[in-house]
Amino acid sequence: MNIDPDECTGCGSCIVYCPMEAISIVDDHAVVDQDLCVECGVCLRSSACPVDATEEPDLTWPRTLRALFSNPITVFQETGVAGRGTDEVKSNDVTGRYKRGEVGFGIEMGRPGTGTTFRQVQQLTMALATLGVQFEKKNPLTSLLSDPGSGKVREDILNERVLTAIIEFKVPVDRVGEVLAVLEKSQAALDTVFSVDYISRPDDDGSLPAVEAAAKLGYRFSEHVKICTGLGRPRVD
Ligand code: SF4
Ligand code: SF4
Repeated sequence: MNIDPDECTGCGSCIVYCPMEAISIVDDHAVVDQDLCVECGVCLRSSACPVDATEEPDLTWPRTLRALFSNPITVFQETGVAGRGTDEVKSNDVTGRYKRGEVGFGIEMGRPGTGTTFRQVQQLTMALATLGVQFEKKNPLTSLLSDPGSGKVREDILNERVLTAIIEFKVPVDRVGEVLAVLEKSQAALDTVFSVDYISRPDDDGSLPAVEAAAKLGYRFSEHVKICTGLGRPRVD
């Protein structure tokens, strides 16, 4: 995001809207830290500026990725899906992507206030690739892997920062322990945060084998959850 120094009065009204704390007042004018800015567009859409000094720049590659992953009204051309993930993660009742006996993982990297770089994403994709997981082809992030087999991300985008990025893949239920162990081991070396979506289907009798498998390994699921249900065509196969 740019701020026109000739228009800006330095009132500071835009500062609180930035989820990355990228805006500050220097010499009575607002300036944007271009490394921290993820091009989410929140400062502009908030209409906080009384003199319309915020300006959306014409982005060029690879900076375009910042907006693609951080601005929810941006459509990722590879998938035709707006935003950072796909229309399938967390809404398996619509897509039926994760079958019985499988667990879908969505590793949501970065959050407002921290964000994530693709270099940090690569730390996790490379660690997960050692397990031989198949990254979800419809996920925008997967198309940015230069080598899905090793989890390597394209070299030219490693320093780009985004608000959040989701790594998606699925494994058989009996492999969840391996995935959770890799995630636990990797978290200490990561200079950002991530949350784990754990997606599974109940059996016909209502039991939840994937949840039971995680519980046996000592993992507990919070009762304070956000439940996403699809409102489209239900899948029961
Ligand atoms: S585009 Fe987003 S990250 Fe950049 S300055 Fe505006 S609010 Fe902050
Ligand atoms: S709200 Fe507008 S005028 Fe006020 S500091 Fe931000 S850019 Fe400058």
